[in-house]
Amino acid sequence: MNRKSQFSYVCNACGLCCHQKVITLSPYDLLRLARAAGISTRETIDRFTIRRGSILKFTDDGACVMLEDARCGVHRGRPVACRLYPLGIERRQIADDENFVMLEPAAGSLGLYGIDGSVNDFVEAQGVAEYLAANARYAALLAVFRERIVATVDFDRVEPREFWRRAVREALAESNYDANPLIDAMFDAGGIEGAGIDEAEIVTEHIKCLAQMVERESNSEILAAAAVMLAVSLGYSPNEVH
Ligand code: SF4
Repeated sequence: MNRKSQFSYVCNACGLCCHQKVITLSPYDLLRLARAAGISTRETIDRFTIRRGSILKFTDDGACVMLEDARCGVHRGRPVACRLYPLGIERRQIADDENFVMLEPAAGSLGLYGIDGSVNDFVEAQGVAEYLAANARYAALLAVFRERIVATVDFDRVEPREFWRRAVREALAESNYDANPLIDAMFDAGGIEGAGIDEAEIVTEHIKCLAQMVERESNSEILAAAAVMLAVSLGYSPNEVH
C-alpha cells in the first residue's frame, strides 16, 4: 500500500492490540516515551524496555507495560509503531522509499477497518510525520558509522560476512551482550533530554554527540553492533548497514 491507498480505521479502545507484540523502538521513540512519562531516558530504558532500550517491555501476561486498564498510559508519547497500527511500514534506506502493509488484527479486536480515507489521512492524523522526520535524521548517522568501520577494519584480513554476522548477533542479543557505549548513548540521551528543551533541539544535540562518539571509537566490533542496532531500531534491515 502507498499513501494514496484507500484505508481507514476506527479504534474502539479494546486494548487488545497492546498485547503479545514485539515493538521496536527508535532513539526518538525512546525520547518521546520518556517525555510523556515524565522521567529520564535512562529510567525509561530500565523500567519499560528490553534489549538495551530497543524493544518495549511486555508483562508475563502479554500486556505492554504502558497499558493502564485498556488505555495507553503514554498516549501522547506512544511509539511510531503504535501510532501506525494497524498499518506497518517497510522502509529501505538505499531506495529511500516506504511501503505500508496492513497488519493482522488482534483476535477479538473491536477496531473497525474501512476505506473511507487514505493511508496518508490516517498516518497524518496519528502524528507520525515528526517521528519519520526524526528517524530520517538519525538514519544519516549510518553513513558516519560506515565510514568509521571501513577506516577501522582491514577487510582484506577480516572476512566481511562473518564480521557482520557477529555484529547482527551482538546487536540483537536480548541478554549476555557486551558493553557498548554507543548503543547505550543511542537510547539514553544522557541529560540532553531535560525538561523545557525543544525536541528538535534535543535530536540535533543527540545526533551531534553520537557522531562525535562514532568518530572517536576505534573498536570495530562496538561500531558494527551499534550500527546494526541503529538500523534495526529505525526499521531497516541489518543488511542495509554495509
Ligand atoms: S505504548 Fe501504548 S499504544 Fe503502544 S502497545 Fe503500549 S500501551 Fe499500547
